[in-house]
Amino acid sequence: IVQAISQNSRCQPKVAQDLRKSFIDSLEEDIRDFLINEAELHTYDDLTKVNPVTPSTVLKCLQARYSAKVFYTHAGCTLVALNPFQPIPDLYSLDVMREYHSAPQPQEFKPHIFIVAEEAYRNVQGQVEPMNQSLVYSGESGAGKTWTSRCLMKYYATVAASSQKCQDTVEKIERRVLGSNPIMEAFGNACTLRNSNSSRFGKYIQLQLNGSQLLVGASVQTFLLEKTRVAFQAPNERNFHIFYQMMKGATGKQRLEWMLPLDQDFAWLPHAEKTLEGKYCTSRMCLLKHEKRNLRRHLACVDYCSLSLFMLCAGFLQKTADLLQVPLDELQSCLTVRTLRAGKQNVLKLCSQSECSVRRDCLAKVIYAQLFDWLVTFINNSMCADRSMWCNFIGLLDVYGFECFLLNNLEQLCINYANEKLQQHFVAHYLKAQQEEYVTEGLQWSFIRYQDNQGCLDLIEGSPSSIFSLLNEECRLNRASDAKQFCVRLQKELSHNASISWDKFSKQPHFTVAHYADKVSYQIEGMMEKNKDPVPPELISLLQNSQDSLLHSLFADGDHESEGLRGHSKVVTVISKFRNSLESLMKILHSTTPHYTRCIKPNPDCRPLTFKREEVITQLEACGIVETINISAAGFPIRIPYGNFLQRYGLITNTRLTVQMNQSNSPEMSNQAVLGSAVEDVLNVVLKRRASNSTLSPDDNNNMVH
Ligand code: ADP
Ligand code: MG
Repeated sequence: IVQAISQNSRCQPKVAQDLRKSFIDSLEEDIRDFLINEAELHTYDDLTKVNPVTPSTVLKCLQARYSAKVFYTHAGCTLVALNPFQPIPDLYSLDVMREYHSAPQPQEFKPHIFIVAEEAYRNVQGQVEPMNQSLVYSGESGAGKTWTSRCLMKYYATVAASSQKCQDTVEKIERRVLGSNPIMEAFGNACTLRNSNSSRFGKYIQLQLNGSQLLVGASVQTFLLEKTRVAFQAPNERNFHIFYQMMKGATGKQRLEWMLPLDQDFAWLPHAEKTLEGKYCTSRMCLLKHEKRNLRRHLACVDYCSLSLFMLCAGFLQKTADLLQVPLDELQSCLTVRTLRAGKQNVLKLCSQSECSVRRDCLAKVIYAQLFDWLVTFINNSMCADRSMWCNFIGLLDVYGFECFLLNNLEQLCINYANEKLQQHFVAHYLKAQQEEYVTEGLQWSFIRYQDNQGCLDLIEGSPSSIFSLLNEECRLNRASDAKQFCVRLQKELSHNASISWDKFSKQPHFTVAHYADKVSYQIEGMMEKNKDPVPPELISLLQNSQDSLLHSLFADGDHESEGLRGHSKVVTVISKFRNSLESLMKILHSTTPHYTRCIKPNPDCRPLTFKREEVITQLEACGIVETINISAAGFPIRIPYGNFLQRYGLITNTRLTVQMNQSNSPEMSNQAVLGSAVEDVLNVVLKRRASNSTLSPDDNNNMVH
């Protein structure tokens, strides 16, 4: 067939060549796949054992395991977790936790997230010096990251729990740490098309351990809450859980206090009729009574904003003003009148209806975002241990996975940028570091090509010119931004970067970024406005003057960015804020030993035990799993410092002389002989290298035997 293709006179030589190549490739793949023993595939608990490692063999192995209800598989230095989408009895029970925790070698047990957890827990004390640990899970929405995070928190709350004598305090802290989770999920999670409990913010939890490795506290850092959801939800998606929990859980008295109507759907609470899981959960938090009351009242108020556009006649404005404890006329004018600066004078201008609704949405969003931050601070205050109390931490990172929708805007750009950063961290940590070490050690090593995403990161955040810098510049200029003009500017300044492109046929101003996971097109329309995220200054001063103490304190410190009157040079854009918090996170991550888990969503509809090959392969490719396996499989799994190696194995070379190199001896004998010979080879190399390096590096421990 190959010959026929290349001899076919109707084919161009180049075409024939390509055809031939792709044919041979596919043939090879088929033959290789054929060679694997399919019946045994589900027993491979480490994908490095699959031979050969190709996307399709890895996929087959994972599918076989999934069918056999095995959901965790090692992939060299990472763990792959497939979401079963149904509770698996006894997979995460206390007994299982204890089993993994008490095993001398947990890695010999079946692959499990608890192996990773336990490894981190043992590492944290470190044999030489203690080292903080980070557990990072990545994957798309619905893949199981938050679930994993919860499992890990429970694991540590169990294994790092108190001994009998300090039961009181520690139990309290465990309860608080675990109890903080549902509260944060109530405020920060929502039902989306992809996941009925989708986290709409990122979080990094640090579990603080004392010298005896007991859990003494925790702190949480959050990123980029999707506050636009308060005022806008895509079709068939919902607002944050807490609103529904409030609607459902409020008592008659509370309804009166918060002025909740009985049977009225709020405009911003679609699908309120769906079953509501979870209790109204601020009660789990140790909030003071009046704080709880205030919190709920503000949420009710955020809700009211949804109705307040027509409030002028319908009376909702009065309710909103009452709940916010601000004067009615001031609220009204804030929502309907703009203050412009003309020279030294302020000029008042009546807003159009659409401007009014932007202001209404803005009021709701800014209150919600401040409340969320307040809640995070509150939770931190209630569970963070005094710095003198803890020595080390284990960090759990749960961030939104890579996103690519039909329409993508600033939110997706930030999220995908964060994922690029994490991918780079992973690549740098495992792949690059390993390969570079082999080079410096002069080891024979055939290089695995890995995807370095530095080019893409330069495009997004580099200097002097990048998508972020141009967007920020545009926002600082404080002019009405024009998407088309901005698109032309991007083309002019950035088209030299291979990671950006433009679809000639698209009429909308956009740009396409080739992320490590996939190509994503971002629409430019609205991006600048989102980046500025302007809050009319009138709204801020209104809230600052509220008679309500909590609301007043939320806005009193005055570090709220607001557009307009204060001058535009001060605008801190969404991108800048996000970038700063991500940078501080990356700094922490770099100072810890990372453990990566790749969560995979086996089907898009969250159906139990359903494995869709196309879905899975895309995700495997997106996280570079085949490269990771290859590099782990081909690399040297054991490293011992020269000094230790000589000390430990030096003996064998002497005794080896007495060992017969006869393969027909007992297996034990021949193994020993082979080992002896191998060790001697290595020893020779070590001794030679030591001799030649002695002037360069007197410290043997810097040199490793691989
Ligand atoms: P992500 O945080 O990655 O968006 P989640 O952790 O919220 O995804 O998982 C989505 C849903 O999948 C969960 O609500 C849960 O029903 C299910 N799920 C995830 N992991 C598991 C698991 N290990 N066992 C059973 N169900 C799971
Ligand atoms: Mg989540």
